[in-house]
Amino acid sequence: MAVTGQGVYLTDASGRQYLDACGGAAVSCLGHGHPAVSAAMHAQIDRLAYAHTSFFTSEPAEALADQLARTAPAGMDHVYFVSGGSEAVEAALKMARQYFVEIGQPQRSVFIARRQSYHGNTLGALAVGGNEARRRQFAPLLIDVKHVAPCYAYRDQHAGEAPEAYGARLAAELDETISACGSQRVIAFVAETVGGATGGAVTPVPGYFKAVREVCDRHGVLLILDEVMCGMGRTGTLHACEQEGVVPDLMTIAKGLGGGYQPIGAVLTHKRIVDAMSAGSGFFQHGHTYLGHPVACAAALAVQQVIERDELLANVRARGQSFAARLASRFADHPFVGDIRGRGLFYAVELVRDRGTKAPFDPAARLHAQVKRECMARGLMTYPMGGTIDGHAGDHVLLAPPFIVEEEHLEIIVDRLHAAIDAAIASVG
Ligand code: PLP
Repeated sequence: MAVTGQGVYLTDASGRQYLDACGGAAVSCLGHGHPAVSAAMHAQIDRLAYAHTSFFTSEPAEALADQLARTAPAGMDHVYFVSGGSEAVEAALKMARQYFVEIGQPQRSVFIARRQSYHGNTLGALAVGGNEARRRQFAPLLIDVKHVAPCYAYRDQHAGEAPEAYGARLAAELDETISACGSQRVIAFVAETVGGATGGAVTPVPGYFKAVREVCDRHGVLLILDEVMCGMGRTGTLHACEQEGVVPDLMTIAKGLGGGYQPIGAVLTHKRIVDAMSAGSGFFQHGHTYLGHPVACAAALAVQQVIERDELLANVRARGQSFAARLASRFADHPFVGDIRGRGLFYAVELVRDRGTKAPFDPAARLHAQVKRECMARGLMTYPMGGTIDGHAGDHVLLAPPFIVEEEHLEIIVDRLHAAIDAAIASVG
């Protein structure tokens, strides 16, 4: 049982401390117990805890919307608040559909997304997600979504194929899939800018998203980027898509938006989507009771203000570089680490039984679960996952330390992780 949290550490009921190297699920970007966030939440609770958005907007919701619109990619000047990542994805899917109804293209009904992706656990988000294990038993309930290959260079880029050529090959697959569905039937392509928990910090190759954007534009298909995990500074820029040089039509954010202090997510929406709705029916046909919750917005506003005031994105970039170097020096020659990948303070190591063939460990051994156990036994929180390759085989360990992390913490993370991986591998034989 977690009882208290301070800085990069959580403490359990027996007084044991855990260095939070993953922010839970890449959530706690400011670490725990930040006084500025706590003060903002207390002040908001005392002023106004709740007002339903069908009657009122609120000061923190307006201020947070201004903050997000000011810092968003060009043209993405509207914000729709929800209570988490899955809700954000649901709202984005419905906005995309409504957009086409408003502009007189109601025949569009198909989404295209990627295998080995995760977009949430509600039915729409689960349907676009490509996490086989999570989808399987609910498959009869899911809307029809076509899935294309993820951008997974470690395994899928051919020997001798340049990164740009690999990205172009994937964009060509998307192009063909849209054509096969019928260009006029497709609503949007949905993708995590940097893959999260399912594949493990899988970074796009240079040019991939530019090529994807071009394909979408050519077919009149929207681009929805899911930055619930990789966004809000995690990769070193506020939005991961900034590093790809693309602007999506809709972008989902959550986790790092509120840093775990309150449940909150949002959809950042391009002006042209909102303009079409304004000129048409005049409203978005959607809603939840806790949209734009004042305390959640106050917490998220405080988190974002601290990140800006303390220039923490510079720390993400600097500590991120050092983290990458430390991981490389410790694991680059490790016999069971096949790949180290990521950006900013968002990294994963992929574990393999044989580095030459990239053969994974036997999935039945559940190596990822052993790694988590061994990390916890050493006072280290990490986010290991199985099914890295195809939803069944493969193991990786995801790392997403808070933006306030210091060099001494990075050293502890790498030391404990190394010991935990070795112990876990020894235990599975
Ligand atoms: N999208 C991505 C990329 C995620 O990583 C997650 C959660 O891990 C979600 C959506 C769903 O968010 P939530 O768990 O807040 O509903």
